[in-house]
Amino acid sequence: LGEETVSLLDAVGRVLSEDVITAVDMPQWDNSARDGFAVRADDCRQTATLKIMGYIPAGGVADGLLVSPGTAIKIMTGAPVPAGCTAIVPIEETIEEGDVVQINGPVNIRDHIRFQGEDIKAGEKILSAGTVIRPPEVNLCASLGKIYLAVFRKPKVAILSTGDELVEPGETTGQGQIVNSNAFSLAASVKELGAEPLLLGIARDTKQSLQHKIQQGLNADVLITSAGVSAGDRDFVRIVLEELGVHQLFWKINIKPGRPTAFGLKDNKPVFSLPGNPVSTMVTFEEFVRPALLKMMGHKYVIKPTIKARLKEATKKKGGRAQFLRVKVTKDCSGLTATSAGDQNTGIVRTMIDANAIAFLPEDRTSIDAGEYVEVHLIDSFENMSLFE
Ligand code: AMP
Ligand code: MG
Repeated sequence: LGEETVSLLDAVGRVLSEDVITAVDMPQWDNSARDGFAVRADDCRQTATLKIMGYIPAGGVADGLLVSPGTAIKIMTGAPVPAGCTAIVPIEETIEEGDVVQINGPVNIRDHIRFQGEDIKAGEKILSAGTVIRPPEVNLCASLGKIYLAVFRKPKVAILSTGDELVEPGETTGQGQIVNSNAFSLAASVKELGAEPLLLGIARDTKQSLQHKIQQGLNADVLITSAGVSAGDRDFVRIVLEELGVHQLFWKINIKPGRPTAFGLKDNKPVFSLPGNPVSTMVTFEEFVRPALLKMMGHKYVIKPTIKARLKEATKKKGGRAQFLRVKVTKDCSGLTATSAGDQNTGIVRTMIDANAIAFLPEDRTSIDAGEYVEVHLIDSFENMSLFE
């Protein structure tokens, strides 16, 4: 995707598409790191009494002020250091009486002075293209007066549900009807990672209805469809995509759940055809679509953390197909344990609710022993990580 310019606050979570080079030093001038007295360190080899010759508050200027031998200038944090000053003595290490101040020496040269350019030097590249903007980057850019940033564009992600049985949430469901919940969990996931969902509604299981909706979806940056991609006699999604110029790169992945997943490109536009079963839709989004969207948005790190956890209970599976197990990862003194979050049947959404991670059981295995280490993808957002309680 291309880039766009956004205001600094809108840049949070986005990926910088330009290098940021500063035109100024930070700090811009030598200034005091403490409330205290600007002195000549040479005067303060031991306890000294100095005459107070002036005062520089924060926001004040040091123009015309000079720390001459035997004198001090009272100064506040952040105020510019006056000429002649070689150290600041914090107020806590002094006794002020009338127009003199007693210094408990010795004082070292350069003490408590923040020097011009010590943080960042003019001409320095301080942020590189590819950096994810967080509050510290916002702080830095604000300091430099850079209130607009060039970032990679967010993809508009069209979401299309397919099926004759579907009704929208809130509508009454008649006999045999199913609520279109997938569009909403997909849109939520798209939003959560910072892209823009575009709900296309429901296409019916006819070529004509699919053509109409898919054509609309191909105007977005990415199209995600759910259902209609298995081997049923009304599963027309792949056929219609093909007719509309979407070149299929693969169909069917050796995984459970999510086997019917298909992927194609219309020119360079990605089209993900996910299975219709809500659990399969959510798991395949997590494993395949999420990393792709993050990559499109310029992110370098697109896979959620993978950890090793001990499987709590022995598990049997079919050989020849990898399995995603919805698990709850917990931590105790012996390390991380992955416990099945419930019934692993793909019809059970409850198990997805109770899971905070997906364990990956390799294709070639037919059983995993209790206590064996498995690879686990954390899916919870960090704020919801009971794991770290
Ligand atoms: P399909 O692949 O079209 O056979 O769909 C598989 C299963 O997922 C069926 O039980 C559908 O009713 C269900 N399903 C399909 N689309 C959705 C959707 N948008 N929301 C919730 N369930 C769906
Ligand atoms: Mg269907």
